[in-house]
Amino acid sequence: MTKNTVVTRFPPSPTGYLHIGGARTALYNWLFARQQRGKFILRIEDTDKERSTSEATQAIVESLQWLGLDWDEGPYYQSERYSIYWEFIERLLSSGKAYYCHCTPEQLERRRKEAMAKGLKPKYDGRCRELELGPGPRAVVRLKSPQSGKTQFHDLIKGPISFNNEELDDLVLWRSDGSPTYHLAVVADDIAMGLTHIIRGDDHVNNTPRQILIYGALGEPLPLYAHVPMILGPDRTRLSKRHGATSVLAYRDLGYLPQALLNALARVGWSYGDQEKFTLSELIQKFSLENVGKSAGIFNRDKLLDLNAHYIRETGTEELVRNLLPFLETKGFKNIKDEKLRGAVETLKPRSKTLVEMAENARFYFVDQITYDPVAAKKFLNPDALDMLKDIRIRLQEIRDFTRETVEAVFLRFIEEKKVKLGKIAQPLRVALTGAGVSPGIFEVMEVLGRENVLERIGKAINYAAGSVGSANTKSSSS
Ligand code: GLU
Repeated sequence: MTKNTVVTRFPPSPTGYLHIGGARTALYNWLFARQQRGKFILRIEDTDKERSTSEATQAIVESLQWLGLDWDEGPYYQSERYSIYWEFIERLLSSGKAYYCHCTPEQLERRRKEAMAKGLKPKYDGRCRELELGPGPRAVVRLKSPQSGKTQFHDLIKGPISFNNEELDDLVLWRSDGSPTYHLAVVADDIAMGLTHIIRGDDHVNNTPRQILIYGALGEPLPLYAHVPMILGPDRTRLSKRHGATSVLAYRDLGYLPQALLNALARVGWSYGDQEKFTLSELIQKFSLENVGKSAGIFNRDKLLDLNAHYIRETGTEELVRNLLPFLETKGFKNIKDEKLRGAVETLKPRSKTLVEMAENARFYFVDQITYDPVAAKKFLNPDALDMLKDIRIRLQEIRDFTRETVEAVFLRFIEEKKVKLGKIAQPLRVALTGAGVSPGIFEVMEVLGRENVLERIGKAINYAAGSVGSANTKSSSS
């Protein structure tokens, strides 16, 4: 990698699942790194021992893997890098840019209250700044921040941002318990890992000047910052559980394809003309920080559902089968022959918005017993249909090479001879084979079910229609 190589990172705190907002941040960092032929780093910010869990880390890693956002380095764990952070503290201490502070939490609290009572800002009063104290059991290390002037940066999304240094405290960098603070760890890592671009949620804007001051104290060049506006629900309030699922894995489990979620996430707050649908390589090619909007983006689940239906139609059958298998297994359908599975998926592709829906719609292909929808059965499996069903069963029985085409030819001959409309026979047959009044095309269904199964199901339907079987259930052979 050359010196100018772009390096981005995704540094989640593992205190919960990966939510939509975090996933979008990860995606933008990933897209930018891939586009620039740079590096994308995964870093787990687990210094908060109380709130960090390995389950959350696992869920985050699994979410990124499912989305296909692969990383070039990591996962690094901040909890394992304290010695690196301490080296940065030593640098700052030895150059006089940081100092030990011995003020106790109780003293700080008292002074804070006093300041507030006087109507002053409750910031650290700099008492230990010039005392040149050494380490001590309750000592912390603070940054010697400039007390006047401004800290400014040019945000790649928001434009120029400026803070008065007076408002910024002498930040604690190292705690008395021997752990780094969040800001120190982030800056140390961003420097050590060679970050060139910090793309993160705009809830971090206020952290940026503090972090810039640490860079300055270390004499390190600044990365470029891009703060991405937050995500809202369609009602323009902050995206939350009220708007439906908010975790990436929940969307996986609801039967969404990663391509659909990635596409939807990319479009929350970023646009490329009017284009709505992007392949992953198009996203890599077309993404730019300049086209990320300055105002909050809206996450629209209806749009996501449409995108999902689109990607289900577009995805190759083999891949779809692989994606569908866990959903079928949940429903108890295992060891289904590949050919039948592929056939079923092909018929269901154009009519399923999620994989959950597809698995549900596939049920009739794989169950031993189909259940008749009572309304459809009453309407179509009645004595009127009997003769037709018997006749068509005999004709179907004669087909040796049982394909969509040969089946269709039999039907066309049948309706021509009988002078009936196709629907007249197709509907009773549909109920006989699928149990329902709506299904994929009946010829395709028959090809997927196969000759034996079709004949058996029609046989049961004939019995049912003749009134010889009282229940709505028929026994038919399994897959
Ligand atoms: N760990 C922080 C978070 O999960 C991100 C820090 C950063 O992007 O600088 O919000």
